Amino acid sequence: MLKLNVIIVGAGISGLSTAIALQRKGHIVTVLERHPGYQALGGPVSIGANGSRVLIEYGMEEILARKNARLNSPMLMRRYDNGEVLSSRAASQSKTDYGFPSWTFARYRLQETLAQTAAERGVKILFEKTVVSVDLENPSVTLKDGEVFETDLIVGADGIRSAVRDAVGGSTVKSFSPMTAYNIDIPRSILKEDSSLSHLLVQSNYWLGPQQIVVALNMPDLDDRFNVCLICEGRSGTEGEWYELGDLNKVRTQYAGFDPVVRRLLEVAEPENLDQNTAEPLIIQCYIWRLSEMPHMEKWVSDSGRVVIIGDAVHAMLPYTGNGANQCIEDSASLAICLEKARTFSDLPKVLKAFEQIRKPRIEWFIRKGREFLRCGICPMAMSKSKETGFSGGGHGQLRISRNGTMEADEERQTERKLMDMLA
Ligand SMILES: Cc1cc2nc3c(=O)[nH]c(=O)nc-3n(C[C@H](O)[C@H](O)[C@H](O)COP(=O)(O)OP(=O)(O)OC[C@H]3O[C@@H](n4cnc5c(N)ncnc54)[C@H](O)[C@@H]3O)c2cc1C
Repeated sequence: MLKLNVIIVGAGISGLSTAIALQRKGHIVTVLERHPGYQALGGPVSIGANGSRVLIEYGMEEILARKNARLNSPMLMRRYDNGEVLSSRAASQSKTDYGFPSWTFARYRLQETLAQTAAERGVKILFEKTVVSVDLENPSVTLKDGEVFETDLIVGADGIRSAVRDAVGGSTVKSFSPMTAYNIDIPRSILKEDSSLSHLLVQSNYWLGPQQIVVALNMPDLDDRFNVCLICEGRSGTEGEWYELGDLNKVRTQYAGFDPVVRRLLEVAEPENLDQNTAEPLIIQCYIWRLSEMPHMEKWVSDSGRVVIIGDAVHAMLPYTGNGANQCIEDSASLAICLEKARTFSDLPKVLKAFEQIRKPRIEWFIRKGREFLRCGICPMAMSKSKETGFSGGGHGQLRISRNGTMEADEERQTERKLMDMLA
């Protein structure tokens, strides 16, 4: 097998899981990240059976299971206006149904854990390295300060505003963004003291409404904060910008027709709240995020076969299937397996093309599903009792996973079959 020097641009979930996947196969991996460190922004990210089986294969089960924020709390799907429970799902259901667990993390906790694992295993992660240009033929990246990194292979995992994608596909490919999300972390102590909210500390709740969803997650790993994410139609916020502050009063007006519990949550999310014990102000920020979707990208790989794009950089999707991060993790496994088939540098264009062709149909399925949910207005599915509708949160990615065999065995068999055809 060809051992490669690999530069990964971006230390997000896709860059870091790919670093782990490639290092396991014996490649020498360096990750370049533009930020000075990991950003402690605490939106929730669900890893379903399709993602967890990959991370378990990477030897991360014990550490991740410990960090799972949802722990044993059930997931309740509620009607938006009166809170009626439409369906519920036990935390352990994923393991029963698909053989692999479903976990929920604060996004930055997952990122941090992936980074720690990668670094412990010998991946070099360099911060404050902003890539501004990419040489597709003689693979190298140039940083903002002029430093150049030469390498055998470049993996663009640099998210929605990807510089690597611009180099491979041209800068005219722009993401599309019909939705906005508000993200608010509330100290758990506030909920504990409020009898109408304290029950939320042992549940994970989703309120499904017309073009609007509220996700309120019990996340004890989140530095004692409780996370509320409100997703709605709208064009506020800036794509790829996670620290922009939103107007809480506007959010309250937008969700005025929701269950009183949601309205109460927005009421207590007051930045002037004081800690009952210390009388110190409790800092509560309402962040506004613009959600993005990438249009179909013809090319994920440069003609030279030395540059490939993965993750949100090539397939950012609306969050309704709860699979953006899971698909990043799937990318990592598929890429590592495809690269294993290269014997010489001249095999790289073929094996990377195989990666692209294997991943595209699956990604397109999730993008289509996300759009369908959006078109249905989300709530119509939840209006009737969900036994008929079958809405189960982030479960859709798991439907296509067989229960038997490890990820590698399954993925590898599939991948190998397709590769055999393509490489014949
Ligand atoms: C509200 C919301 C809820 C979501 N819920 C879920 C969920 O429940 N389940 C799920 O699976 N997914 C979910 N997702 C999607 C998921 O978070 C993303 O798909 C995933 O985080 C993308 O990871 P990435 O590594 O590809 O990109 P990013 O996380 O964007 O990482 C890219 C990295 O590259 C760096 N970078 C960018 N440009 C450069 C450059 N020029 N040089 C160097 N570094 C650079 C960035 O700083 C960043 O660290 C959700 C998304 C949102 C917005």
